[in-house]
Amino acid sequence: MTTTPPTPTDTTLVVAETFGPTVQGEGPSLGRRASFVRLGGCNLACTWCDTPYTWDGDRYDLRAELTRTPVTDIAARALQGAPGVVVITGGEPLLHQHQPGWATLLDLLTAGGADIEVETNGTIGPTPTTTAAVARFNVSPKLPHAGDPERARIRPSQLAALNATGRAAFKFVCRTPTDIDQVATYTTAWGVPPARVWVMPEGTTPAALNAHLAAIADPAITAGFNLTTRLHVHAWGDERAR
Ligand code: SF4
Repeated sequence: MTTTPPTPTDTTLVVAETFGPTVQGEGPSLGRRASFVRLGGCNLACTWCDTPYTWDGDRYDLRAELTRTPVTDIAARALQGAPGVVVITGGEPLLHQHQPGWATLLDLLTAGGADIEVETNGTIGPTPTTTAAVARFNVSPKLPHAGDPERARIRPSQLAALNATGRAAFKFVCRTPTDIDQVATYTTAWGVPPARVWVMPEGTTPAALNAHLAAIADPAITAGFNLTTRLHVHAWGDERAR
């Protein structure tokens, strides 16, 4: 049997930033010590996106923002300081999962002893390789206030594939009680039990988070959902790579 030698792209991925240890600021692992690998590119264009430098070529020079990087370097940086969790995020990280470098990155992080979490907008289902390696999918489908067309932001078959892993937590950015009603409508239709739903206030300042949290906390609890804040914003504001 012959094997094909790897090409340079076999062992690289396009990265915006790799940083940590810091904390996982959102969702079921809130407060856990974690490092982040932020990959480039997204298939949505949310109006309130807090990482537009990963995808918005109209506002950012993506040739300067994004770097094709050896996965050995990405993994070594992510594992510095022995974080318990490595979060692969974006942009939309699952856009990269058909690149050979993706599987290599998952292997290196697993060998390094990290629990791997993937943060996804829920529009792309996981490959078997991804599912096998990932401890938790933090799935964050977008509500109408994100501004994306519904056919783009809500992909029921992909959400079902993520839900079927049994390792998906569904996280929704909310501003108002009406948003909580929308979350209940969606998750009921998708067969996602309330105990696997986290609602999170929108905001990139502590003041905005506090205002939205006050608006959504009671209706979220009444609906049976979990609440999360954005701990990194409370600690460091909108500072990048924290
Ligand atoms: S899905 Fe996430 S990364 Fe993509 S535009 Fe929306 S908020 Fe930004």
